[in-house]
Amino acid sequence: MTKPDNTQPVIGLEIHVELATETKMFCRCANRFGDPPNTHTCPVCIGMPGSLPVMNKKAVEYSMKVGMALNCTVPEFTKWDRKSYYYPDLPKNYQISQYDLPLTIDGHLDIPLTGGQTKRIGITRAHLEEDAGKNVHDFPAHTGVDLNRAGVPLLEIVTEPHLRSVEEVMSFARAMHRLVRWLGVSQANMEMGQMRFEPNISLWVGDPEKVFDESAGYFTPIFEVKNLNSFRSLERTCQWVIDYHQARIAEKGRGWSLADVGKQNWGFRDDLNACEFQRGKEEAHDYRYFPEPDLAPVVVDDAWRERIAKQIGELPIARKARYLDKYKISEKEADALTLDSPTGDLLDAAVAAGAEAKRCVNLMLGKGASIANERGCRIAEIRITPEQLAELAKMLAGGKVNATAADKIFAKMVETGDTPGKIAEAEGLLAIFDAGKIGEWVDQAIAKNPQAVEDVRAGGKKQKKAFGFLTGQVMQLSGGAATPAQVQKLLHEKLGG
Ligand code: ADP
Ligand code: MG
Ligand code: ZN
Repeated sequence: MTKPDNTQPVIGLEIHVELATETKMFCRCANRFGDPPNTHTCPVCIGMPGSLPVMNKKAVEYSMKVGMALNCTVPEFTKWDRKSYYYPDLPKNYQISQYDLPLTIDGHLDIPLTGGQTKRIGITRAHLEEDAGKNVHDFPAHTGVDLNRAGVPLLEIVTEPHLRSVEEVMSFARAMHRLVRWLGVSQANMEMGQMRFEPNISLWVGDPEKVFDESAGYFTPIFEVKNLNSFRSLERTCQWVIDYHQARIAEKGRGWSLADVGKQNWGFRDDLNACEFQRGKEEAHDYRYFPEPDLAPVVVDDAWRERIAKQIGELPIARKARYLDKYKISEKEADALTLDSPTGDLLDAAVAAGAEAKRCVNLMLGKGASIANERGCRIAEIRITPEQLAELAKMLAGGKVNATAADKIFAKMVETGDTPGKIAEAEGLLAIFDAGKIGEWVDQAIAKNPQAVEDVRAGGKKQKKAFGFLTGQVMQLSGGAATPAQVQKLLHEKLGG
């Protein structure tokens, strides 16, 4: 099999995001994962004839937020449509969705690529629909249906076919995951199915600079792979399908084309770590969309648009760039501080209170991150105020406490909520500069450790280690309150080193 050398992956993504509203899209049932089956259902979401849907405004606002963060336009007028759907997990036999007039259209997301570059990926649309329930295959002789998820608000984001490699797909998927969490519209927990990916994958055979120019090449069939609920399966799927297309081109040549074979639906099998065929275009569904008669269209005016725009604020990519530029911290630190918005807000507020950014960052990503880790929460949630953080950072900068003491104060601050100044005093953690006092400890350490003293005086291989040991002894005698630089200076003087 020879591999064609002029192929270019072309990929577009459809992403489903379950919105974290209190209630479902068109009824007042709780939107909650993990409860016993069919405990959050009502005539509307199980599709009883005669029941009437009522739109959840919060879901619309969450969707506007995402759309606007993706630089989409939110048109004046958007409406609901029925999409035929005949499966037991949505018993009313249709799904309420949006067909020709979606809530948001024509946006883009800039994704980071290795080497510090970014690439702009077009967003075709983001529209709202309702999720289906879940078929439960836990029984020996039958299948159950759990309708707790039926009617949960689902945002579908569709990209333009602008992704050109597995790397770009993964960068996009991660950026999108981060964005919806950042905006607080979804937990996007993929194990719980709160974010699902459907890549459409084809290869352009021909000049890679002229994708879509039919005189310069052609497409292989497009494979749409349904319902991927992990980054791993998305990555694996894209690579698998690309390899598969390569093999078919080698085997069938021009016969393996979109024009001849069309579009196909495939699924990913976790157990096989491979994709499998589901259906071809000849079996394609006729969704027979038509306007939903039971729901009024939604009219979005400027005031509403502005109100939502104000809630968006600075987005993670912009914030990261600002941190790198203004705070002069590393890429890794900037990443860790922009996983969620409250953590960066804490940093910004501490800096606004007059603290040095770098010292705040060290405290947050040192002791702060380790406490957050233990508790399984975000750094912003360990309960320290910007004022406390700023005060501690200033104490460090002014040499009032050393780094070891600052860690102790930090932990105590989280525990008690007291100010760092008060804690430092109560715990005797303020740095001691009194040369007389430190001198006494130095004398004690010298008296108690003649071997180390001899090693220092003798010079040679053991000197450095022995000097460090003595410094440590003095620090211990001071209860961590002496400043190491001052201890070392006094030791040098007394030992003549
Ligand atoms: P459908 O209605 O069949 O789902 P759409 O035209 O709405 O098809 O496109 C669905 C997805 O397919 C979009 O994400 C789009 O970017 C992607 N797509 C369109 N053309 C191609 C292509 N040649 N190769 C890969 N993906 C494509
Ligand atoms: Mg599709
Ligand atoms: Zn309901």
